[in-house]
Amino acid sequence: MKSLQDPVSVLKGVGPKRVADLATLNIDTIEDLLTYYPTRYDDFTPNDLSTVKDKQRVTIKGKIVSEPLFSRFGYRRNRLSFRLQVGQQVVMATFFNQPYLKKQVELDRQVTVMGKWDASRQQVTGTKLVTATGTPENEFGAIYPTNKHLRQSTLRSLIRQAYEDYQRVIPTLLPTFLRQKYRLLDRREMIKDLHFPGSQMIAKAARRTATYEEFFLFQLRLQAIRRAHRQEDGTRILYHNDELKEFISQLPFELTNAQKKVVNEICRDLRQPIQMNRLLQGDVGSGKTIVAAIAIYATISAGYQAALMAPTEILATQHAEKLAKVFAGTHVHVGLLTGSLTAKQHRELVGAIKKGDINLIIGTHALIQSDVEYANLGLVITDEQHRFGVNQRQQLREKGEHPDVLAMTATPIPRTLAITSYGEMDVSVIDKLPAGRKPIETRWLKDKQSNDALKFLRQQLASGAQAYVVSPLIEESEALDVQNATDLYERLANYFQPDYQVGLLHGRLNGEKKDAVMKDFQDGKIQVLVSTTVVEVGVDNPNATVMIIYNADRFGLAQLHQLRGRVGRGERQSYCLLIADPKTDEGTARMKTMVATTDGFKVAQRDLELRGAGDVLGAKQSGLPDFKVGDPIGDLKILQIAKEDAANLLATPHWDQVDDNQPLVLYLKRNQLETHFD
Ligand code: ADP
Ligand code: MG
Repeated sequence: MKSLQDPVSVLKGVGPKRVADLATLNIDTIEDLLTYYPTRYDDFTPNDLSTVKDKQRVTIKGKIVSEPLFSRFGYRRNRLSFRLQVGQQVVMATFFNQPYLKKQVELDRQVTVMGKWDASRQQVTGTKLVTATGTPENEFGAIYPTNKHLRQSTLRSLIRQAYEDYQRVIPTLLPTFLRQKYRLLDRREMIKDLHFPGSQMIAKAARRTATYEEFFLFQLRLQAIRRAHRQEDGTRILYHNDELKEFISQLPFELTNAQKKVVNEICRDLRQPIQMNRLLQGDVGSGKTIVAAIAIYATISAGYQAALMAPTEILATQHAEKLAKVFAGTHVHVGLLTGSLTAKQHRELVGAIKKGDINLIIGTHALIQSDVEYANLGLVITDEQHRFGVNQRQQLREKGEHPDVLAMTATPIPRTLAITSYGEMDVSVIDKLPAGRKPIETRWLKDKQSNDALKFLRQQLASGAQAYVVSPLIEESEALDVQNATDLYERLANYFQPDYQVGLLHGRLNGEKKDAVMKDFQDGKIQVLVSTTVVEVGVDNPNATVMIIYNADRFGLAQLHQLRGRVGRGERQSYCLLIADPKTDEGTARMKTMVATTDGFKVAQRDLELRGAGDVLGAKQSGLPDFKVGDPIGDLKILQIAKEDAANLLATPHWDQVDDNQPLVLYLKRNQLETHFD
């Protein structure tokens, strides 16, 4: 029995070498080959000359009716022209600097010329000449993405062979009612029309089906995973409601409505015997930390341990200090586990965690190292989730007995992308900042105005402000970043001292040094903190109201927004000064965006437009799959519809017993584990 799961080696002409070559394109099975779709088509369909406009790109088919004229001019430049009869009309074709075409230009020969139309001279300036007599098929040919191991023509003929041998066994995956509802093709036709369409229109229709199918299958997998997790035994965290209310009421501020809403969503999950898997999204400064604290308190008061994982030591340390204060006098005992503990300290801490004496463990990824054993871990929280890979997310989920998981992120993922990249998680959003925050005033200065920035800073310092100054970023080398920060530090120290104290923070300082500098900054002993981007995430000092970023155009929008989010955390007016002479239009657009808005979602949307989805999330980190045909931004509507359809199908009782759904059931069985978290 033929099956689409057959290895490509069943095809004629595919030996071990070719199997390996195909594997470089992730093609192992017949199905992989058949769903290796072209990215575009070479359109050799001739244009009708009576309708083309001046300067339009055209394809003209005709007979050569003059000897070619060849002339040289200027330095190494040349021109080849000949007359072409197209229907009843004779036009001129000219090629520049392609002397080798001369051989192919023979009187009476049928050729196809592609190029740009010049209406006044009735002439085409050619870019490509094709002499083969075209059959409809190579007038419209699929172009595949390929690499140095495989040629277009090889791929094309293998796909043709696979289609011919296997077309009969291509099952249709989408249920009939969905295909009818959206007038989609069956799968065999779709595959045929994507690889060998007769026209652009046919290819387009097939692509529409393929996009829906791809999104639908993706959503079906994600949601099936999610449903499966829901059925797994999770921990039921039975905290005392009154005790929790009491804790919340003694916090130094009242929760915003947005915070109350997400606290409710989280607490409801904690109580249920299913494993929580929730993403908490909130713009920088929206107050996620206190929400985390409440979830931690609930967990610990129910007798479990909680862990909080931060992406940097600075942030972990800051969390530990803040939370120790928040939890002072309660039964929450905080332990800070980072890479800079001595072996002895580490051993003692790990011991206390194992015994349960420490019930809130805060740290970097050291938390998921294998020597850490928990007594009874009930809740795991990751702060600044986007900094962790999907794998780390999964490793945490697997610690202990299915702890509940809360992932916090400030990366304002537009809703649209949240659907795709975090489809396996529930999402809570803090959509309002605490009251009384004034929007940060953002200004863009040119390099030569940087002295104005320093003057401005001096004024602000005089009225009691504190400031971050971020030094230029050099992607390639941490050593150079440190050098830059050190140089800037010396300059500013010269400028401001002894009136104001300047401090320096960068990634190469040891943990103790870092802590000391941060502490001096928090305590107001240092007014100006010069830093590399280590302050990018999470750092919280409400008294800091000025952020100056040198060479700001070197940073991406998301990073700039994060950096800016370090200020504007108190009641006082805050400022962000971007110093940059952007060299590219995109760099200029980034500066303008930052000046125009402080809304993280708007910044993210603009970022998407400027860079595209894969880059924004970082394909690896986000778990955002590489879709073959669908574009999660351009085809967003289809994605949303497919998501709903998948959810509805899975929620239908006994959907997996229906005959028409059997191909899907099989598909899920085959793909679920693989897609789990790779
Ligand atoms: P982020 O969401 O960026 O992690 P934080 O949790 O660091 O934000 O909170 C930002 C600042 O806002 C902190 O100084 C915090 O104490 C303060 N804050 C949080 N919630 C409230 C609230 N409801 N009212 C007033 N201030 C708040
Ligand atoms: Mg935070």
